Amino acid sequence: MTAQIIDGTAIAQKVREEVKAKAAARIAAGKSQPGLATVLVGDRIDSATYVSMKQKACAELGMRSFHHHLPANVSQEELEELIKKLNADPQVHGILVQLPLPAHLNEERVLGLISIEKDVDGFSPINIGRLAQKGREPLFVPCTPYGCIYLLDEVGVQIEGANAVVLGRSNIVGMPAALLLIGRNATVTVCHSRTRNLPEICRQADILIAAIGKPQMVRGDWIKPGAAVIDVGINGVPVLNPDGTPVINEKTGKPKQKLVGDVHFEEVKEVAGYVTPVPGGVGPMTIAMLMKNTLRAAEIQDP
Ligand code: NDP
Repeated sequence: MTAQIIDGTAIAQKVREEVKAKAAARIAAGKSQPGLATVLVGDRIDSATYVSMKQKACAELGMRSFHHHLPANVSQEELEELIKKLNADPQVHGILVQLPLPAHLNEERVLGLISIEKDVDGFSPINIGRLAQKGREPLFVPCTPYGCIYLLDEVGVQIEGANAVVLGRSNIVGMPAALLLIGRNATVTVCHSRTRNLPEICRQADILIAAIGKPQMVRGDWIKPGAAVIDVGINGVPVLNPDGTPVINEKTGKPKQKLVGDVHFEEVKEVAGYVTPVPGGVGPMTIAMLMKNTLRAAEIQDP
């Protein structure tokens, strides 16, 4: 069997176009333009790149973005003051604090301060708590897991009644992905670094979501034939010559890198029914879902 490759880039583009049209319709109707505040603390290059991609997406979709870049040594009080100011600002519908924060800051307190109507990342304890409770609805679902479920729905994978296995239990991906699957009536097994017999557990999965940050760890013989495999991992690995030595970038003199997922794509696509590539699978969905959440935040606050 050769799996259907789930084209996250195309599906994300469709979501973005829908959001763009709805944002334009709001403005045409005299309602407020959706606005996202991004808060970056410090100078991590990866975090700065993610934030600038989010700002660019806002501009492309006709939304406003308000950027706040604070120094790495900002105090807890100053950061909390900013969040309170953004909570009170009617032009700001969504607040995104780029994680991770420097170690001296209390992330839990900061996320807990974001007003739940503006919590477009879905990480506030109230939104996560609601996700974990039967019969309660969070206002916002964390963007990456939301993107994973959206991809499954888009290609018509049945979630209800399926055996789902989630590799990873982080607050931002694994755990909320598992909670979403439970909410959709899948039977869910959550695996982590101390799980025994990982390959055996994976072989039971009709749906497998891999979010562990271990390059190409999930092999073809871990997969149940026909399963849907969603690869969240983004890992940089060196590009190798046929003799196993690293390929050197002529301009920089450094080893060339490429991105791979947590899944061994070439092996898994021969067994699975559906699989997401890296790049071009879950990655583009994360920002698309953030934009969808920001539009929703504007609709909630200014109906
Ligand atoms: P974390 O490091 O926070 O969590 C990793 C999880 O994987 C932990 O629960 C850990 O277990 C588990 N784990 C680690 N090693 C193993 C192992 N050998 N076997 C089984 N479980 C293991 O990572 P994130 O959840 O933040 O990210 C996971 C991956 O997803 C990364 O590659 C990241 O870059 C990517 N990512 C992609 C996004 C996207 O937009 N596509 C967004 C966010 C992340 P334990 O709890 O026991 O430590």
